[in-house]
Amino acid sequence: MKIATKVIHSGLEIDKSTGAIITPIYQTSTYVQKKPGDNMGFEYSRTANPTRTALEKNIAALENGKHCICYSSGMGAADAIIKLLKPGDTIISNQDIYGGTYRMFEQVFSKFNLNFKYLNLSNTEILKSNLTKDTKLIWLETPSNPLMSIIDIKNIKKYVDKYGNKNTLIVVDNTFATPILQNPLDLGADIVLHSATKYLGGHSDLIMGALIIKQKAIYRKLFLITKSCGAVPGPMDCFLALRGIKTLSIRMQQHCKNAIQINNFLSQVPHIDTIYWPGRKDHINHNIAKKQMNAFGGMISFTLKNDSYKNAIKIITNTKLFKLAESLGGVESLISHPASMTHASIPKKDREKNNLSDSLIRISIGIEDADDLINDLKQAFNKIK
Ligand SMILES: *Cc1c(COP(=O)(O)O)cnc(C)c1O
Repeated sequence: MKIATKVIHSGLEIDKSTGAIITPIYQTSTYVQKKPGDNMGFEYSRTANPTRTALEKNIAALENGKHCICYSSGMGAADAIIKLLKPGDTIISNQDIYGGTYRMFEQVFSKFNLNFKYLNLSNTEILKSNLTKDTKLIWLETPSNPLMSIIDIKNIKKYVDKYGNKNTLIVVDNTFATPILQNPLDLGADIVLHSATKYLGGHSDLIMGALIIKQKAIYRKLFLITKSCGAVPGPMDCFLALRGIKTLSIRMQQHCKNAIQINNFLSQVPHIDTIYWPGRKDHINHNIAKKQMNAFGGMISFTLKNDSYKNAIKIITNTKLFKLAESLGGVESLISHPASMTHASIPKKDREKNNLSDSLIRISIGIEDADDLINDLKQAFNKIK
C-alpha cells in the first residue's frame, strides 16, 4: 500500500460496537475484568488505551516499522531511548540537533555517567575513528534543526556494522522529514523518533512523541520503560494526532511546493548571506538528500549579511502571516530566531562553533498560498534600510 493510502487506513478498524468509521476517543483510565487477568485486551490506560493503540498501529505502518509507542511529547520519547543505556555508555550525536535534545543530554543525563560526543556527521567518515566498543547509541537528526544538515543514514549503518559494537543502536529523529519524505528504518536505523507535535499532528494543537521500532526485543525494552515511567499521551491527543495524520501526505506536498517557491524568492534577496535548505544545489549534501529523501521539506533557515542581529529581529517582528513562534510543521507558517528561542539553552560559544549565528532565521513554511507568503516576507525585508 502507498503512503497516501496508509495515512488514512493503516491500523484503523471500524468500531465493532457501533460501526463508527472514526476511532472513538476512549476517555477511560481502566477496564472492567471478568476475573483477574480475564479482560478484553486492556487493563489500565498507562499501559494501553484503544485510541492510542490505533494511532500506534497507524504510525508504525507509515515508517515501515513493526512497532510504535506514543509519548506525551517528543522529549518523552527521547527520554525513553536514553533509559535503554547504562552508566559508562557513550552516545555519538550529530553536533547540530534540536536544542531540547541537547539540553536533556547535557543537563539531565550527563550526571548519570553517560558520555555524549557531538560530531559533524555531515561527513560520515568522522565516525570511523570515533566508534569504540562503548558506543551504544548513534543519535542522528537529518535534516537537522536548525541548519538542515543532511546525514547519510545508509553510510552510518555501514560504518557501525564495520567498526562498531554489534549492539550499537542507530536512532534517527525524523521530525523534519516525516515518513512522507524519508523512512530511516529502511536505510538501516533501529529506532525512528518523531515529535508528533510538528508535522504528524500538523495543526499546532497538541504535544506528542512517537518511537517506531523494527526489532521486537528493542520494542519490549522500550515498552517496559514506557509503562513503568509513564510518559504516555491521553486519548484526546491521540484522536487529534490520528485526525491530523489523515492529511499528512497532501500537507507535505504543499509544504514542499511552497518551499521551492520561497527558496527561489530568498535567493534574490540582497540582505541574505546563506540559505540552508537541502533542495539547493549549493547544499553540501544535496546529493545525499536527493538519494534518501522523496522531497526536501518545508523548513528553510537563512543568515543575513554582516550577521546582523538587529536586522534579524526587524524581520521576525515584521512578518504578518509568518507568526513569530517556536515549533514548526503546522498548516500555518512560523518564523523564529534559534539563537534566542529554540536553541537559547546552547551556550553562545558552542552555538557559534556550530554556525548557529545571531542573524540565523528559521521559517516553517505552511500550506497557505505561496504568493501571499512571499509578499509577506517581501514587506518584512523592506523594513531593513
Ligand atoms: C520539537 C522537536 C523535538 C521535541 O519534541 P516535543 O514534542 O516538543 O517534546 C525533538 N526533535 C525535533 C527535531 C523537534 O523539532
